[in-house]
This record gives sequence, C-alpha cells and structure tokens, in this order.
Amino acid sequence: MSNLDNLRKAGLFTRNVPRYTSYPTAPFFHEGVNGKIFESWVRALQPGMKLSLYVHIPFCERLCWFCACRTQGVKNLSPVDAYLDTMETEIAHLARTLPDGITIARLHWGGGSPTILPPQSITRLTEALKTIAPFDPDMEFSIEIDPTAVDDAKLAAMVDAGMNRASVGIQDFTPEVQKAIGRDQSFEVTRDVLLKLRRLGIQSVNTDIVYGLPHQDSDSLDSTIARVLELDPDRIALFGYAHVPWMAKRQKMIPDSSLPQPKERFDLFNQASDAFKQAGYTALGIDHFAKPNDSLAIAAAEGRMRRNFQGYTDDTCDALIGLGASSVSKFPQGYTQNRATTTAYTAEIKAGNWATARGYSLSVEDKIRARAIEMLMCDLRIDVPILRATYGNRVGLLALDLQRLHEIYPDFVTYEDETVTVRPEGFHMIRILASELDNYHSTSGKHSLAI
Ligand code: SF4
Repeated sequence: MSNLDNLRKAGLFTRNVPRYTSYPTAPFFHEGVNGKIFESWVRALQPGMKLSLYVHIPFCERLCWFCACRTQGVKNLSPVDAYLDTMETEIAHLARTLPDGITIARLHWGGGSPTILPPQSITRLTEALKTIAPFDPDMEFSIEIDPTAVDDAKLAAMVDAGMNRASVGIQDFTPEVQKAIGRDQSFEVTRDVLLKLRRLGIQSVNTDIVYGLPHQDSDSLDSTIARVLELDPDRIALFGYAHVPWMAKRQKMIPDSSLPQPKERFDLFNQASDAFKQAGYTALGIDHFAKPNDSLAIAAAEGRMRRNFQGYTDDTCDALIGLGASSVSKFPQGYTQNRATTTAYTAEIKAGNWATARGYSLSVEDKIRARAIEMLMCDLRIDVPILRATYGNRVGLLALDLQRLHEIYPDFVTYEDETVTVRPEGFHMIRILASELDNYHSTSGKHSLAI
C-alpha cells in the first residue's frame, strides 16, 4: 500500500482534530476557573520570574471573510478608544496585584489588527503596560501588522515603543483568491511595509501564508510563493485554511465549491513546504519555516521550541498573561480566558472585577500529556526520559498510550528506548497522533480538518 493510501486510511483527509495550541483545548475550559482563581495564580508568581504579556486588540478596518478571529469591524476609532480606556483599568488592576520582582520578557500585540491604533494610542498603551512590571532590557516585543492599515507614523510609534519583531499578514497574493476571501492586498503595499520595517531596524519579520483558500491551485500558489520569497522574511507560517462557517459566520461568504479538496490541500502544503525548504528555510514543527540563523530555528534545534496560543515560540517565560477581550493566560497551574465579547469584557472590568470567564486547572496527568503533545508538535518526537526528568515516575501513565500509538501506526512512528519518533511518512499525521494522547478529545467535528 502506498503512503498516500496509508494516510487516507488513517483519516488524514476526513478527520477533524485540534491544532493543540493548548492541552486541554479551549472547548474544555469551564466557568469553575474564575477571576478569584486567576488572581490567586497571579499572586503566586515569584520574584525573579519572567512574564510574557499578550495584548488583544479585537478591531479591524476590514473584515476578511476567511478569518475566524473574534474581531469587530469599525468605521471610526471611538470603540477602540473606549476599549483602551477599559484595558488601562485592567492593566492597573494587574499592576496592583502582581508581586514585586517580576520582569516582562515578552510582549505581543495581536488581534484583530493592532495597527488600527493611531500613534498616540500605541504610546499610551505601551506606557500603561510599563506600569505592570519593568520591561526586561532584552524583551522581545512583536506586533501583528496589517500592511493595508499602517502608515509611517504608526510604524515609527511602534518602533519607539520598543517593537523589535513584526508579523506581517499576507495569506495569498493572487487577485482571484484575494477577491474570494474579501481581502485586497497588493504585493507592492506589502513589500513597502517590509522595507520600511527593515529600515527602522526591525530584526525579524514573520509572514503568514494560508493554503486551502478558495480558487487556490498549484499555479496560483507558485506565484504567491515566489513573491513571498522575494520579500525574504525571516519566518514563514504556512497555515491550512480552516473552513468552519458554523463558528465563523463570515466564512459563509466562501462557497464550499470554491475550496480545494483535501487531497489538493495536501499537495498545496507539500508544494509550499518543498519550495521554502529549497529556498534555504528550516522546517519547524508542523507548519513553520525559518532561516537557519533565526532564533526560532535555533530554539528548535536545541529542543527549546514551544507551542502556545500564538503558535510556535521560543518563549520560555514562567507565565503568560493575556489582556483584553477573549485573551488567554497560562500559568504553571493552568489556563484562564477573558470574556469573549468586548461588551462583556468591559462590563466586568468597569465593575472592578477581573474579566476571567473560564479556564482550566491542570492535574499532574494533564501537565504530562500537555508536554508530551507539545513535544510531538514541536520536536516530532516524545522523549520519555526528558519528561521523567520533570515529572518523575508519574510519566509511566503514558507507557500504554505510547505503546498503543506504535501498534496502531507502525508506518508512521517508531518506539525505541522510551522514545516515540515520527517517521517522515507520518509527518502529516502529527495532529492525529497527538489526538491519540488526548484524554479529552471528542470527534465532535468542532475542529479543523487534519490536513
Ligand atoms: S485577517 Fe486580520 S484584518 Fe482580516 S479580519 Fe482577520 S484579523 Fe482582521
């Protein structure tokens, strides 16, 4: 049987599985983990610890139809200003609560479109964030940039604020594809923003490409890839389009009939992946590529790459706190998530509460499974001796699952010396393999297709 037949038989083209940016995945968060618990986890952070901050700006000037982000289209800045007022209150509450002696080593602004903020708001938000804890001198500060919603003054304000890494959204440069996803963005506008970022001294630029978009085919993807390589980004994320119109209503604008079929998605991914590798990029995890001297590629080579809600990262901070509507925080004890809508978030903060809506408190077994899944997603292997160094003999609870993984998928993984290693033939199966270690996984169809 060919490997393609094996993959098909194993469900690669039919199964829906999580992307495992957390374990357990967000649908298992519950209301039992509330603001009181969030506060206790903040207070338990110790002097000397490093903190990562995520700031969520859930507004966009345009609403692209393919996008499943929780974001709100706005015609003027008054809702954005009101949201920043609320966020300043949340920030002040956190600044009063966080123990002394902690520094902020990572800061990421995402959304939505943080580039919707005018220069004075960028400065104002940064000054507020500095009151939470001192910024580490080596702090990595990244911002997601919509090239169609940024100008010189905004870029200058971001660099003045300390931004040293940028993530520039692209998706696809083909006009027919852009029209079908409601996102008009020329190569020239994108190139100009990248050139300006470099001129302003930004050390690392990341770009996002999406495969599986409507009307995308091998030729159109080829031309997008060529243009992306011309831009010479330091990192490239190659995401599969997740068509979930029952969750993301805007996606109803994209007819099912315009979408590449699962086998075509498989071919498109391989085409892009081969092209990026041939161009000298190192493949990382399941869907990232980076220049060999990029810090993420170095972290991956040294076994330090991690996975969180923003995707792959070399962030090893002790905790991540999310600010703003729907943002997720991660503590050694578990996860919390803020209220999803700006209205509910604002109401909680205005009432003097934390905006925590739900979360998850991790058991030791959850932590072991979370780390094993993370290893699989990042390193394409699960090394039990490394897990044992952290969790002791409790890692024995995985033994049967790992044995079973090898028995079910002998063509896709090896299992020797207490280490499961994904064979090249099993690369596309990683999310499915991870789901076999997931005690909570349900095949409810809420997740995106495995390829
Ligand atoms: S892709 Fe970016 S600009 Fe488009 S709707 Fe999503 S967050 Fe907004």
